[in-house]
Amino acid sequence: MTQLLAGAATDVGRVRQMNEDRFLADEGLFAVADGVGGHQAGEVASQTSVETLLRAFTDGEHTTDGLVSAAEAANAAVWHLAQASREKRGMGTTLTALALVQVDGEEQLALINVGDSRAYLLQKGELMQLTEDHSLVEELVRDGKLTHAEAQVHPQRSIITRALGMEPQIKVDSWEITPYQGDRILLCSDGLTNELSDERIASTLRHLADPQEAAHDLVRQARAAGGSDNITVVVVDVVDDDGRSRQASAALAGSAAPGRPAAPTVTTLAPEVDLTGMRPAAAPPPTAPAPPPPAPRLRSRRLTWRVFAFVIAVVAVLGLAVWAVGWYARGAYFVGIDNEQVAIFRGRPGGLLWFDPTLVERKLQPTGAELLPAQRVELETGHEVATKAAADRYVNNLRQEVEARRAPPTTLPTTSSTTPPPTTTTSVRP
Ligand code: MG
Repeated sequence: MTQLLAGAATDVGRVRQMNEDRFLADEGLFAVADGVGGHQAGEVASQTSVETLLRAFTDGEHTTDGLVSAAEAANAAVWHLAQASREKRGMGTTLTALALVQVDGEEQLALINVGDSRAYLLQKGELMQLTEDHSLVEELVRDGKLTHAEAQVHPQRSIITRALGMEPQIKVDSWEITPYQGDRILLCSDGLTNELSDERIASTLRHLADPQEAAHDLVRQARAAGGSDNITVVVVDVVDDDGRSRQASAALAGSAAPGRPAAPTVTTLAPEVDLTGMRPAAAPPPTAPAPPPPAPRLRSRRLTWRVFAFVIAVVAVLGLAVWAVGWYARGAYFVGIDNEQVAIFRGRPGGLLWFDPTLVERKLQPTGAELLPAQRVELETGHEVATKAAADRYVNNLRQEVEARRAPPTTLPTTSSTTPPPTTTTSVRP
């Protein structure tokens, strides 16, 4: 039977007045929730979410779908509370939760996530992030517009794009992880990850064998590093994997799991707990390093028709937006200078997004050198007009003005008796 050992710690930090984070490390269910919303609504949101999650998971099926359903129930509970009170409208919370479940008759760890709290797996000393943040900066990183380092210090890094309680329905990300003895899973709010680098988190998790001690130390370090937000950490160790590692490798002689000096918080899946087996001495002694177990099996789930409809809607909106930008970008003309000649362009000076202006006509007269400095500055910036005819009129006026300056003062022609010479087109691109 898979046995888990957990430690947890939370702290208000050094800036906030209240701790709006909540955690669960009870009844075989582990969770971190980070509430948002004024007038103590954030506290209500995170508290409601973990209470509902615990109740719904305990009463429901201990499967991955059961955990997803419990998260959906938590979303509905926060949503209904938010709708019932004007002060609480708009409140929400992140939720990252882990539970031991049954998948096809085998024990697995189910993990769910909504928002920017995170889950990490430390396996054989290597730390990997399991969850994907639903945050503005993470989307910019995914789009290649920000680096991870820039995201770490971005002023808008706390803006989340998905949270419990914001909508009546919620999309919950979920994974299944095969638990191996020695694996350590970290759940945490962004108050930890905004203060400490992954390297520092990994180093602490590697060096402190006791999960309670590790949780406390991570919170202590995040406080010392600034503590600008509430900090919450849950550390879950797989202390027994029911021989799974042994089966994974016939050469397995011992376990890499370190011995545990004291008995901290002990949590396993409630109905199947064998607390007698959780003595610290039960942990096998550290011997020869075991061959690595297979990589954790992560399965993303829940690609439903709703996701498909959402993608279609997003594509349609994006298509409409591109068309509108294109219509605006190409719907005007401007007079500028090209190759030292006055020219008419279609589009906006300097272009707009990926719509560059196109050269419509280059005029032989006047040349750029014949313009007054102020006229030249204006044309270098681009003189915008609504139509091609207006652009032609503007160039004709310029030409007449240049010719008037060139003529002897006594023979200044009147514009009414002058027919402008035909304009010569040297380049036309539709
Ligand atoms: Mg936070």
